[in-house]
Amino acid sequence: MSDIYDDQNIFAKILRGEIPSIKVFEDDETLCFMDIMPRTEGHCLVIPKTPCRNILDATPQQLAACMATVNKVANAAKTAFDADGISLFQFSEAAGGQEVFHLHFHIHPRHEGVAIRPPGTMGDMDVIKVNAARITAAL
Ligand code: AMP
Repeated sequence: MSDIYDDQNIFAKILRGEIPSIKVFEDDETLCFMDIMPRTEGHCLVIPKTPCRNILDATPQQLAACMATVNKVANAAKTAFDADGISLFQFSEAAGGQEVFHLHFHIHPRHEGVAIRPPGTMGDMDVIKVNAARITAAL
């Protein structure tokens, strides 16, 4: 069934430390790390540490924890990139644009007149690491 949580998804592997990530922030309930195919400078992802497929099966507790981290990191990213605003994206199920089936929220620092880039292009890891450091410095 498509709505069952699969613990072999790539973000579950990141949470278990089986594959690396560029960490921005974590607390007991959430992790924030950089997206490796960034669509904006500073594009990062907030996920709950407990299993959850997307917005459709999320508990109020998971959502509250994620939103607290989104609030914290979004403000830091806005400062770090001197952004004019933030776009927060969440995609649920394939038809909704979801590709990784562990709940995640995309944080995008935005600047007036600058379009978000198309998805699917691998970023320069050195640039992504510098961008992560800019956000953590602002936290
Ligand atoms: P979506 O499921 O469409 O909301 O987006 C999944 C996002 O995960 C995309 O923006 C990918 O670039 C990103 N992504 C996929 N694999 C990794 C990874 N190993 N580390 C960080 N981000 C990833």
